[in-house]
Amino acid sequence: MKTSYDMLVIGGGPAGAMAAKCAAEKGHSVLLVEKRPAIGVPVRCAEGVGKELLHQFLKPDDSWVASEIDQAQIVAPDGFVMNLKPEHAGSEVGYVLDRKVFDRELVWQAANAGADIMVKTRAVCPLTSDGRITGATIEHNGLKTDISAGIVVAADGVESKFARWCGVNTTVPLREMETCAQYLMTDIDIDPHTTVFYTGNSISPAGYVWIFPKGERTANVGIGIAGDKSRSGSRAKDYLDRFVSMNLPKGKAIELIAGGVSICRPLEKTVFDGMIIAGDAARVSDPLTGGGIYNALYTGSLAAEVGTTALSNGDVSAKALSVYDTTWRSSPMGIALERNYQIKEIFVKLTDDDLNAIIHSVSDMNMSEFNTLNLIRNIVTANPRLAMKLGKAGLKQLFDSIS
Ligand SMILES: Cc1cc2nc3c(=O)[nH]c(=O)nc-3n(C[C@H](O)[C@H](O)[C@H](O)COP(=O)(O)OP(=O)(O)OC[C@H]3O[C@@H](n4cnc5c(N)ncnc54)[C@H](O)[C@@H]3O)c2cc1C
Repeated sequence: MKTSYDMLVIGGGPAGAMAAKCAAEKGHSVLLVEKRPAIGVPVRCAEGVGKELLHQFLKPDDSWVASEIDQAQIVAPDGFVMNLKPEHAGSEVGYVLDRKVFDRELVWQAANAGADIMVKTRAVCPLTSDGRITGATIEHNGLKTDISAGIVVAADGVESKFARWCGVNTTVPLREMETCAQYLMTDIDIDPHTTVFYTGNSISPAGYVWIFPKGERTANVGIGIAGDKSRSGSRAKDYLDRFVSMNLPKGKAIELIAGGVSICRPLEKTVFDGMIIAGDAARVSDPLTGGGIYNALYTGSLAAEVGTTALSNGDVSAKALSVYDTTWRSSPMGIALERNYQIKEIFVKLTDDDLNAIIHSVSDMNMSEFNTLNLIRNIVTANPRLAMKLGKAGLKQLFDSIS
């Protein structure tokens, strides 16, 4: 068994697969380890991704596109429905993927580019030398092996432990960890090309319910609630069951999954001597929507680009790798993460009356001028009393930061 590589990638999700593929394409030796016995399962995702974002990395393929989405609906707590047409729905217009196939395809592409892949293989502790990460001990079928690597990409997802083992503070406060439950439901009346988001504190405290179509009468129906709102009798699944019995009583659940999404700010530092952190492990899922597929693909490919340059230059110090950190933070993704974090901080403090007022006033907007700035202007003009309250919650700071 080969025990020395240029790059060791921990995790076979979109971030890890993309890092492994891009580094292998540049001719570097790469090992990707995935603790699960199969790539892509169990799926812990609603599988929605923006079309244009995905196209940056992959050409869509019928084998992993379950549905094409051309509009979104937001349902206010009072039942009012706001329609967002393609030009205004932003990243909510796109695809609902079949991630069982999609994640496999990505890892297949990494393997095809020359990366070695080991499933049912877990990184169990880092190897270090003079404070630099130099690889990891991996465990496969109870057998431990030390793998040395020029650089390690920690892409081990929301439950990431590798960076913590290396001394990085990766703690997510409970209020910023959405706990999620989702059914794959069939036999339901839905528009197969529309995603629907239900808001309201009694429906989903500090979160939302989603319906993401996966074909004609099938959809991912899920919920995320703030971790600190979860208690006995009021867990994510309890809220989901109540929603389903009221709104989709005839539907049949054929799969149930549970998972977590971090909605905190990204890690303060995502590069260390010999290590880059990518995807959910770096806490780069969107704090407002919980979406992280694109962010994982982007940070995974950037990790490979910066990592392979550092390897070629013979310098994998945190200083040499810092361009990874500065590049993603100043990218459209990094800017959106900070803006959406601030919006999320306001959103979680809203009452149902506030949400109703906002959604009604947004639907009155001239949609040809729809953007975040105009959206906030419209809320302020239409609801001065609500605007004062939002001002206290940080709207002014947000407004100043984007105007
Ligand atoms: C309920 C739910 C719904 C979601 N819906 C959406 C959505 O609609 N759209 C969207 O964009 N995002 C969504 N997300 C978020 C999205 O799933 C993640 O952001 C995305 O999967 C992140 O990719 P990743 O590669 O960083 O991590 P992951 O996909 O989590 O991959 C990490 C991998 O690392 C492996 N691993 C962990 N530890 C080790 C170890 N020690 N050794 C080896 N392997 C290890 C894990 O088994 C896992 O396969 C959702 C998440 C949840 C929970």
